[in-house]
Amino acid sequence: MNIECKNCGYKWNYKGKSNYYATCPRCLRKVKVVGKKLRSAKK
Ligand SMILES: [Zn+2]
Repeated sequence: MNIECKNCGYKWNYKGKSNYYATCPRCLRKVKVVGKKLRSAKK
């Protein structure tokens, strides 16, 4: 899922296990993962 860090504005595709927090690879801050509906065509 795509996440945007609100600390530095960095965007990346998060594939971690946690559905709540991800660590921004740029500023290493914890970013809250917004649980959007899983209606993506991916799988
Ligand atoms: Zn960041």
